[in-house]
Amino acid sequence: MPAHFIGGGSNLVLKDELPAVVGIMATKGRDIGRGPDGDVLVTAQAGEDWSEFVGWTVSQGLGGLENLAGIPGTVGAAPIQNIGAYGLELADRFRSLTARDSLENKERRFDRDECRFSYRQSLFKQFGGRFIVLDVTTALPQAWSPVLSYAGLDSLPSDVDAATVMERVLAIRRSETARLAHAGQCGVFLPQSGGYS
Ligand SMILES: Cc1cc2nc3c(=O)[nH]c(=O)nc-3n(C[C@H](O)[C@H](O)[C@H](O)COP(=O)(O)OP(=O)(O)OC[C@H]3O[C@@H](n4cnc5c(N)ncnc54)[C@H](O)[C@@H]3O)c2cc1C
Repeated sequence: MPAHFIGGGSNLVLKDELPAVVGIMATKGRDIGRGPDGDVLVTAQAGEDWSEFVGWTVSQGLGGLENLAGIPGTVGAAPIQNIGAYGLELADRFRSLTARDSLENKERRFDRDECRFSYRQSLFKQFGGRFIVLDVTTALPQAWSPVLSYAGLDSLPSDVDAATVMERVLAIRRSETARLAHAGQCGVFLPQSGGYS
């Protein structure tokens, strides 16, 4: 049987029967380094929760991912559809990833150009399950400036910090998800934890 890997299941509608062995990415680990250009390189394993990862980078004093806070799912799934929200997408902060090529049975490193990111698209989505993402490295700018172009963020002052932007993003998401709760959705918002399940 073929193997198919998933993350948190927040972007899936499953058939009654799936003719595959399903693996859930549960690998954990985060690492901070520095690139030759001075950017801070933050690597996370595929099974890390994306939103927790974003919150952790901000708590380390690292700005750059705060607009992507609150997107449900795992780090490994983030490049599959080049997740994006509130004026930013993963491709804007992406440096590289490691994936297992299940066809050639070997690990490969992909830089940003090789991932062929576009709006909610990537090489990995086009190849439908051939590449299993193992870890993702983001490059956070040394000279951070907030991305406040999106409605709801544009009222924040230009000297705002990353933590405040993240809180505003999460507040907007909470208000939107309250409406979704009446319509039904995949993924349930948990107000106590500020995250999704
Ligand atoms: C309430 C709600 C709000 C959302 N808001 C946004 C938003 O603002 N922006 C946005 O872009 N998306 C949004 N999404 C969609 C979803 O959060 C993203 O698609 C997320 O990346 C899915 O992560 P996951 O781990 O749950 O992936 P899953 O649903 O488990 O998998 C999605 C796809 O990725 C593949 N995949 C997962 N992990 C790997 C891996 N390690 N290697 C290879 N393939 C893998 C799976 O096989 C599957 O095809 C939202 C979803 C919900 C329910």
